[in-house]
Amino acid sequence: MLMLINGQRVPAASGKTFDNINPATGEVVCTVPAGEACDFERAALAAKAAQPAWADMPFYKRSEIIYKYTALVREHVEEIAQAACAEGGKRIDECRDEVLTLCMVFETFTEAAHHMYGNTIPLKAEARTENDIIFTVHEPLGTIVTITPFNFPIELYAHKVAPALITGNAVIAKPASDTPLATTMLTELLWEAGVPGGVMQLITGSGREIGKWLEETKLVDAVSFTGSTEVGSSLLASGAKEIRRTFLELGGNDPFVIFPDADLDLCVTEAIGGRAHNAGQVCCASKRYIVHESVKDAFAEKLVKALSALKLGNPADPANDMGPLINEKAAVAAMADIAHIIDQGATVLLGNKREGAYVWPTVLTDVSPENDVAKDLEVFAALFPIISFRTFDEALQIANQTSFGLASTVMTADMKTAMKFATKVQAGTCVINGTGDYRSVHQAFGGYKHSGLGREGTSTTLREVTQEKNIALKNILK
Ligand code: NAD
Repeated sequence: MLMLINGQRVPAASGKTFDNINPATGEVVCTVPAGEACDFERAALAAKAAQPAWADMPFYKRSEIIYKYTALVREHVEEIAQAACAEGGKRIDECRDEVLTLCMVFETFTEAAHHMYGNTIPLKAEARTENDIIFTVHEPLGTIVTITPFNFPIELYAHKVAPALITGNAVIAKPASDTPLATTMLTELLWEAGVPGGVMQLITGSGREIGKWLEETKLVDAVSFTGSTEVGSSLLASGAKEIRRTFLELGGNDPFVIFPDADLDLCVTEAIGGRAHNAGQVCCASKRYIVHESVKDAFAEKLVKALSALKLGNPADPANDMGPLINEKAAVAAMADIAHIIDQGATVLLGNKREGAYVWPTVLTDVSPENDVAKDLEVFAALFPIISFRTFDEALQIANQTSFGLASTVMTADMKTAMKFATKVQAGTCVINGTGDYRSVHQAFGGYKHSGLGREGTSTTLREVTQEKNIALKNILK
């Protein structure tokens, strides 16, 4: 594969490449250019040159291009999904869904952008402007760099690229080094639909390279990042010098709180639906199971039984429930995290087993609120640590004792308890009687505390990727 710079398919200037490996089979999927600072700078210069004409293009014409794009993507769902399955080890049906979600996200943002109304300041509101009319319009920021993680390469690309393009920005996309192929195919289709080659570009390579470049360049107006808190924090620091807008969607260690009156079968279905999804590599999946002591054992028993029935295997075969983690290194790291949690006193009820990049669903009980996993240790695998509580206040305290705050779940039959919890939990989303692995394109998705800065969704992102200009018609009423 090649990178996409200024309308051309090119290798890295250095000629360096690396292999992309299918984590399920160990086979080479493709050879990927290892982009470096000079490649990014070249793309940023092309973006600066191309963006003004794109911003000037009538909005309805940009919309036509986006609708042409989603029609093209729908013609290529299968090949893009197969590429995503091979490079990321994600179940094939989930990959197909992700491609269709991309179409929905692009179309919904395009529709929402039709309603980005400006403001008219109330007439004669103050003496010194009483003969003036002041109104506002939204203008693009310029060039936005989007950096996305491996776990939802297509959907998260859509959440960033769609609002940026429709509002007239240029985009330089940097996919995760483990998952560059599907997003490259999707970017080529944007060109085919009519987005100019300097307006939409894609550079592959290591995250470190783009991080170094962003510390130096003056050509980027905003960075939209989804990934780990550690990298997000470094991007915020490097953007400070340039007063660069930096939007961050970061990690999570979200609580799933079960009160004694909850429907335990529903708890099990929702817990597994969220945590086994994408083999446990989901930012907003519930990751700490905070269960009332009176139902802890019953929940654990039902959970172990249901998880034992899951089939692990090649994600290209739809008969399998779970595929591998993104690579063997990630699987080794997840097992080390599990060993650490056990060292701190947890008891294994199921799993704690790895083969290659596959990690079996693991249930740990007797997890103390002092255990690292009960606080800030985010584990990217289908891990269910069970922590017990006695009172509402204790449950809330454990739920909030983390520096993260992405999503949360409360399971109870009592809406008063649910609403009390939802209003007190420190998280960007609270799902009542459902897994925290929950996202609507319209909601303002994002995190409290170290889980992020800014929000993504049609109710909010269009304002984030634009700036509001005031136009004053002085003395027009005189
Ligand atoms: P990561 O931070 O290692 O990588 C994310 C992206 O950043 C990749 O494209 C990577 O190449 C790039 N990158 C790495 N180092 C960089 C640097 N120094 N400068 C600039 N870019 C750099 O994260 P990951 O392992 O791919 O993803 C897992 C993490 O992402 C988890 O913490 C998860 O919770 C989080 N995540 C958050 C959301 C959300 O919406 N909040 C969604 C998905 C994943």
